[in-house]
Amino acid sequence: MDPFDSHNSERVNLPRNMIENSMFEEEPDVVDLAKDSASFPTFPALDPDDIVYEPRSSRLLVRGLGENDLDDEEEDCESSARLLGMSFMNRSSAHRTAGSPYTRQSPSSSCSRPSTRTMVVCVLFLVIVVSMSMVLYLLPGCTFTKTGCPKQNKTTPSEPVYPISTNGEVFPWAQLRLPQSVRPLGYNLTLNPDLDTMTFTGRTAITMFIRHNTKHIVLHSVNLNITKATFKLSDGEATAVTVLEYKPNQQIAVKFTEELKAGQKCVLTLDYAAELSHTYDGFYNSSYSDKEGNKKVLAATQFEPLSARKAFPCFDEPSFKATFLIQISRKEGYMTLSNMPKAKTTSLSNILFMDEFEKTTVNMSTYLVAFIVANFTPVNKMVSNTLLSVYAVPEKYEHTAYALDAASKLLDFYNNFFEIPYPLKKLDLVAIPDFLAGAMENWGLITFRETSLLVGSQSSALEKQVVASVVAHELAHQWFGNLVTMNWWNDLWLNEGFATYMQYTSIQHVLPHLDIENLFLDVRLRAMEKDALNSSHAVSTEVNTPEQVEEMFDSVSYEKGASILLMLNASLPGEQQFRKGIIQYLKQFSGLNTYTSDLWNSLTQVELSTQLQNISEMMNSWTSQKGFPLVTVSHKGDEVTLTQEHFLLTSDNNTRSSSLWNIPVSYINDTCSLAPECRQIFTLKTKSGTLKLPGNVTWLKMNYKNTGFYIVDYGKDGWAELCDALTDDYKVLTSEDRTSLIHNIFALSRLGRVTFQQVHLLLKYLSNETETTPITEALLQLNTVYRLLDKRHEPELGARLKVYMLSLFGSLVGNQTWDEIESVSKQELRAALLETACRLKEESCIKQAKAIFKSYVESNGTVRIPGDLQQVVFNVAAQSDDWPTLLNLYANASYDSEKRKILKGLASTQDPHQIVWILKEGLSGHIVQTQEMPLVIDTVCKGFAGYLFAWDFIQENWDQLIEKFPVGSFAIQRIIKSTTSQFSTKAHLAQVQSFFSSLKERGSSMRSVQEAVETIKLNQRWMDTNLASLRKLL
Ligand SMILES: [Zn+2]
Repeated sequence: MDPFDSHNSERVNLPRNMIENSMFEEEPDVVDLAKDSASFPTFPALDPDDIVYEPRSSRLLVRGLGENDLDDEEEDCESSARLLGMSFMNRSSAHRTAGSPYTRQSPSSSCSRPSTRTMVVCVLFLVIVVSMSMVLYLLPGCTFTKTGCPKQNKTTPSEPVYPISTNGEVFPWAQLRLPQSVRPLGYNLTLNPDLDTMTFTGRTAITMFIRHNTKHIVLHSVNLNITKATFKLSDGEATAVTVLEYKPNQQIAVKFTEELKAGQKCVLTLDYAAELSHTYDGFYNSSYSDKEGNKKVLAATQFEPLSARKAFPCFDEPSFKATFLIQISRKEGYMTLSNMPKAKTTSLSNILFMDEFEKTTVNMSTYLVAFIVANFTPVNKMVSNTLLSVYAVPEKYEHTAYALDAASKLLDFYNNFFEIPYPLKKLDLVAIPDFLAGAMENWGLITFRETSLLVGSQSSALEKQVVASVVAHELAHQWFGNLVTMNWWNDLWLNEGFATYMQYTSIQHVLPHLDIENLFLDVRLRAMEKDALNSSHAVSTEVNTPEQVEEMFDSVSYEKGASILLMLNASLPGEQQFRKGIIQYLKQFSGLNTYTSDLWNSLTQVELSTQLQNISEMMNSWTSQKGFPLVTVSHKGDEVTLTQEHFLLTSDNNTRSSSLWNIPVSYINDTCSLAPECRQIFTLKTKSGTLKLPGNVTWLKMNYKNTGFYIVDYGKDGWAELCDALTDDYKVLTSEDRTSLIHNIFALSRLGRVTFQQVHLLLKYLSNETETTPITEALLQLNTVYRLLDKRHEPELGARLKVYMLSLFGSLVGNQTWDEIESVSKQELRAALLETACRLKEESCIKQAKAIFKSYVESNGTVRIPGDLQQVVFNVAAQSDDWPTLLNLYANASYDSEKRKILKGLASTQDPHQIVWILKEGLSGHIVQTQEMPLVIDTVCKGFAGYLFAWDFIQENWDQLIEKFPVGSFAIQRIIKSTTSQFSTKAHLAQVQSFFSSLKERGSSMRSVQEAVETIKLNQRWMDTNLASLRKLL
């Protein structure tokens, strides 16, 4: 999925939601131990034999494992214990760690293979176990349970606390994760949506395989009214069964008096009725107005991560892969789409038809299932053996050509790059009028927000870049995610980090004129901002609750994931080694589920150079701990000293971190600094290290082209040397290296390691700079400082900063034209410069923008504003008397990308009445689509007039917001960040803390709340430290 609705959106940080069912608080929670283990650089090697398995009487249930779920098959021990989120029993034992921070008793031999040969070892083992048990027993406040160890004593077994179903019966399962005793093999799914009543009925027949003897079948279901249920063993008769429901865990269950025996096959058939969802997930309704203004309705799905259960009862976890045979009824005038090609249509009545789709040829996770009932128009073409189509509402048919062309090139590229052909006969890309995320990679039926798929032939290359990157991301998922899927959401990055990495790699090859590398560099730098906070999380991290799953869709899984893959690829000696490794991974695990360790093992297996270290060892340090390193470097003559520490932005000086990373530190120097051959690599695994240079150097620049995920401090002398070098001739470094220096020095300033005076010295060279990324980075950083001063009511200092910025970039601003230009990079530069200049009320900028808007309006839309300049022109119009004119344009705009920029313009108004109006409109969804709410709030907050209104607004309307956007979702993360990240005073800090803590289960435990609090404290600290020097400098 691409949860981000645009590519310039700031990708917010993450909070962990700790909403817990009180029932679980009573339970000793083995998974909590696994959670704790995340703070260890590598997960402890947990032998499956060490897992306590006890029958029904035990309280020491492993969350996600039920009774009977571990039998004597070693394979099952492995898969079940893997549910703990631990990558033990790795196929390669290369990175097993010997020392486990805790040990579990092993009274049950269900998984063990006793051997006489190991008798002595066993005796020793028993002694250790007994000793450990005694130690644990005597420990005050037992590690294993909040209620104390004695409860676990096997001599006093107690019943697990099972919940009560809606009908009053005991529900046979108490965990959030499903039991492993039953596996679905195939779903036969019939859906009858009624777009007049916005309801649907369905029938789901699930063929299952019993893996372990069990007396119950548990699966997921939400808001489905089950009207009939039958059960049939392979050789038996279908009989009616009672379905129990436990709503808090979104589960249903069927209990049996006789045990179902391992090895049997059976079929559960459920008839049900439900309403089409009014939000953006599950099977939901959507509408739009056609050219004549008639309302048209349609129904579409969005299942990732946890909403397939809202459309049909299912085993809704990514590891429960199965086949799907889907049929959907529709009225005349509608069409249906699903993952597979249509097999046949039968007539049910004069106006009602049933479309049946081919059975999936691949096993698929439930979150990838999709279906649509609508009236769309396609364009298509054959690419290899795949029929590739792009669908949109008929009115937007002419905006589909670019996506089809880009997708066909990208599909070709991936078919060759992965050496595995796309496995389905068709691939549809569909633009949905109401769609919250950017896009969703459903296998064979990718759904998009209209702005992520549709562009006009006249659109600028920058607008096409947005479409191409989202398409590239979703196509990459057809391999990474669909063919090979993470076992559980804790490793979401395996899907998303890879798709993000591949989207940039593929576009660089296939559509090089889109200058995508600028965007990739930017997202890597932005990912560091969130990951620098103490509230961040490891790339691969434990998740249990639905809110925690939602929270995984953040910049750590996506951009940090992609960044560490780039770092790995850049540090490998052979060009093709990385690609060979991922091909091996895809081939080996095709159709299966994986863990992070599987990927590293595949890459290690193809390692070409014997001198290289183990990739697993290196990469584990990046995926199993949060944050990233700060490398401090100093050089004397030919000797360079490097030290590493955690780059931890925290207002609390007592927070210490002893994390160490295995860093491939790259470096260049004044004798050779531009070509890739100049780059040297030193692996820093320990706290500090030294390296010898071939001779004396004048300066050193580390992290060549910023391909590594770390920040560098050069010390006072090192920074001064680099400043001098840039002042002499800034072209001695690549533009990526210059950008990286600007980013790093601002980051160090935030950390309190450099003064603003040093920042100022580096920025001096910028008046000569002409390349895009160093300038856009500096603008972004300075705009952040400007907004903080603005919101802190420091108008005089703000005015001085404005003069400073215009003196740095004034001549560049003056050199920009307002006509169409080709280069994406130049468009990015121009848009950033002019938006800043006009925001700072630079006169000629405002004048020019107003003139363009006037001629645009007078021409009745026939004069086109260049795509990259639309935003600045609309912003200026909105902040003048033209706001009503702009609103009128918004109501009539049909081209989505432009419409969105008009909306952003409208939200940038400084008029309080207009601000309040647009916030309310966004929530009601009448004129402004509710899916745009995060964008509206973000834009309102950037202005001086709006940020306090927005803060009040979200407090007053919190419940309505979380009804539209789930707690923990990317939309909510973004809203929290937008409304709070510019506060820098104690008073605001107190307000934010008080509001969020009052929310309780409605969001107070989200990671983004911790982030918000920490960010305000850091803003406050930065202001306290730097206000005086800013006054002096500016
Ligand atoms: Zn994705």
